[in-house]
Amino acid sequence: MIGMIRRILGVSGKYRGRIYGAMILSFLKGVLMKTPIIVTYFVVTAFIDGELTKTAALCGAIALVGSVVLQALFQYLADRLQSAAGYMIFADMRMKLGKHLRRLPMGYFTEGNIGKISSVLSTDMVFIEENCMSVLADMMSYLFSQGIMILFMFFFDWRLGMASLAVTACMAILGRAMMKNDLKHSGNRQQASEVQTQAVLDFTEGIGIIKTYNLLGEKSKELTDSFDTNCRVNLDFELSNRPYKLGVFLIYGIGTAAMLGLSAFLYAQGYMELKFFIGMLLCLFDLFIPIKSFYDQEARLTVMSACMDRIDALFAEPELDDSGTLILNDTAAPEIEYRNVSFAYDKNEVLKNISFKAEKGTMTALVGPSGGGKSTIASVLPRFWDVQSGEILLRGTDIRKIPLAVLMDNISMVFQRVYLFQDTVYNNIALGRPDATREEVIEAAKKARCCDFITELPEGFDTVIGEGGASLSGGQAQRLSIARCILKDSPIVILDEATASVDADNESYIQQAISELCKGKTLLVIAHRLNTIAHANNIIVIKDGQIAESGDHNSLMDKGGIYRSMVTKRAVGAGWRN
Ligand code: ADP
Ligand code: MG
Repeated sequence: MIGMIRRILGVSGKYRGRIYGAMILSFLKGVLMKTPIIVTYFVVTAFIDGELTKTAALCGAIALVGSVVLQALFQYLADRLQSAAGYMIFADMRMKLGKHLRRLPMGYFTEGNIGKISSVLSTDMVFIEENCMSVLADMMSYLFSQGIMILFMFFFDWRLGMASLAVTACMAILGRAMMKNDLKHSGNRQQASEVQTQAVLDFTEGIGIIKTYNLLGEKSKELTDSFDTNCRVNLDFELSNRPYKLGVFLIYGIGTAAMLGLSAFLYAQGYMELKFFIGMLLCLFDLFIPIKSFYDQEARLTVMSACMDRIDALFAEPELDDSGTLILNDTAAPEIEYRNVSFAYDKNEVLKNISFKAEKGTMTALVGPSGGGKSTIASVLPRFWDVQSGEILLRGTDIRKIPLAVLMDNISMVFQRVYLFQDTVYNNIALGRPDATREEVIEAAKKARCCDFITELPEGFDTVIGEGGASLSGGQAQRLSIARCILKDSPIVILDEATASVDADNESYIQQAISELCKGKTLLVIAHRLNTIAHANNIIVIKDGQIAESGDHNSLMDKGGIYRSMVTKRAVGAGWRN
């Protein structure tokens, strides 16, 4: 519990003052909640002693009303302070997480972590935001109240004090065991919720494939299985928690009865005065309520703790190092140079000792069988992943020594798979360079041969595309992504099978768009059609993560190696795709 409070204070940053304020208010409210007992005690003892006056009774009544009003006021203020703090803390934390995610390597997003990210953002953070602050204050006030009740007992008789301490300790020991059990189960719960989120994402994203391959039954089963598991794990959690809850309830009941018995005994034996005995009776049914309520709420606290673990784990993912500060200057060094680059996805070594140079304004083509590592070579240039050995130089500077933002400004990429945001056509292009004027955006669209289809859209450039908006064909989307790159106008362009999945009609448009994009650029091209790269300055054949051969078209044809056999195979219609 203390650890949990520390953790929350740890993340509360500049809102810590609010939380402390709320705790003090909760403490005051906890004290005030005992006013009825105190007032009644004094009124009753004065009555027994025959000293009860009208004024005293009136004062007691005023104190009662006053305490209720003050309690309401403190509760209101504490709620305001802390629930607002909850939302503020998590608004800040989401921003921080966004920044952190931006700095993670691409690998993190492709390794099945999307479910984790969405459940942290949508489940864990929401749970803590909505629960944490109110639970925290309630729990604090329960602890204060329990302390006050024990003090009362000591005031009446030290033996009652000791007994109430013992009962509270028993409840605390059992409560701790319950907490441990809950913590163990809440890990499983969160994991099941993560799997469920991932399953829902997979199902909705792949619904097209699922339908065409008639996998609805099989994939729906995966989905329902994840729902079932989630339900079962949650039930297990509830069931495993029951015996502990019951135990706490029993100690509460037996402890209360024992306290009554003990005080009656002490009174009967003459160890305790009547007024103290009455005071004890007044407190009796409130005596262990705070600690019991504390453990009633405890499950929420442990869920919160597991949520915090997962949030912390996400923050602990190592970011790509972005400490580079070097400025890129124009030098005589090649625009791009790979020096002995080796790279493995996890333990699967994909690139082995790759070295090549690309001079400014030239075209380098990567060809070779599928799975050879061409896309990987392209992906390590914008640092989607960092290479494990060797280095990549941009104008003579190691790319890790350049700020990531500068590196990104220098590189544009066109992939086979295009991603368009659910936004207007205009904004989808403009994100290539957010400060571009409308004329520049339209010019880029023209160069990318987009204008014909954009003018046919219901609201032209202002048509919303993507989910719930107008949809574009694969080729149109590709041209839009090229317009984005033309607008960005970066000196290096990477084309990774940009025309691989478009129809012949679209291809000629895309080729025109690509030629516009490539004017005066340094190009790294992975192409599935060999004729588009025949005029490349350097053709590198990649096989099993290594450079098998390289040179221009003619020299490679003369050499009579893999490249030549690929070209001739294609010429006789064998069909070759990389
Ligand atoms: P190519 O573009 O030549 O077809 P890739 O660079 O895409 O080849 O892939 C090279 C190898 O790396 C393949 O064995 C592929 O399975 C593996 N690979 C590609 N991307 C990933 C990834 N994100 N995580 C793990 N392995 C990958
Ligand atoms: Mg590829």
